[in-house]
Amino acid sequence: MLKVGLTGGIGSGKSEVSGRLAKLGAVVIDADKIAREVVEPGTPGLARIVAVFGEHVLRADGSLDRERLGSIVFADPDRLATLNGIVHPLVGERVAGLQNAAADDAIVVYDVPLLAENKLAPMYDVVIVVDADDDLRIRRLAERRGMAETDARARIAAQARREERLAVADLVVPNEGSLEELQARVDEVWDHLRERAARG
Ligand code: ADP
Repeated sequence: MLKVGLTGGIGSGKSEVSGRLAKLGAVVIDADKIAREVVEPGTPGLARIVAVFGEHVLRADGSLDRERLGSIVFADPDRLATLNGIVHPLVGERVAGLQNAAADDAIVVYDVPLLAENKLAPMYDVVIVVDADDDLRIRRLAERRGMAETDARARIAAQARREERLAVADLVVPNEGSLEELQARVDEVWDHLRERAARG
C-alpha cells in the first residue's frame, strides 16, 4: 500500500485533485468528511454527543448544530477534549476499516488540509501539495464558493504559508491554469504514484 498525503491551502484545488485521483483508482480517505459522517442523525456518535452536551446542540431537524457545539467547545478546553474523545476514536475506527479493506497494492490518498500545520508529513510515503498563488485562491473562493474576500483572506492567514507547505512536498501540483491543465498534471502524478507503488 502506498500512503499518499494530499494537502493544499483552502481554494488551492485540493478537492478537484482528490476527486480526479479517486476517478483514476485511488482510495481517498477524507478525515474531515468522515468526522461529519460519524455524527450524522441516527449514529451512535451523535447519540453520545447529545448525552454529554444536551439536546440543545441539535437543530430542529435532528442534525447536529455545529455552530452551537463549536461555541461551547471553543470556549472551554475540557469540553473540547470531551468532544474529541467521542469523535476521534470513531474517525480512527472508520479510517482503519477503509485501510484494511484496501488491496495490498492500493494507492491510498489521505486528504489532510492541515498536514503542514500539524507536521504530519512523516506519516506518508509521498506528500503532494496543490499550489496556487494566494490572490488566485481568494478569487476562486469568491467566484466559485461565494466567500467574502475578507473571510477568504482570514482563512488563508490562519493556515500555513505557501512556502511552509511547499517545504514538505515530495510532489507539487501547480494549479494556476485551467481545470483541464490540472487534470493533465494529476494524470501524470497518478502514473508516477503507480510506478512508486509497483516498486514497493
Ligand atoms: P480546496 O479543496 O483546495 O479548498 P477546491 O478544489 O474546492 O479547493 O477548489 C476551489 C474552487 O475553485 C472550486 O469551486 C473548484 O472547482 C475551483 N477550481 C479549482 N481549480 C480550478 C481551476 N484550475 N480553474 C478553475 N476553477 C478551479
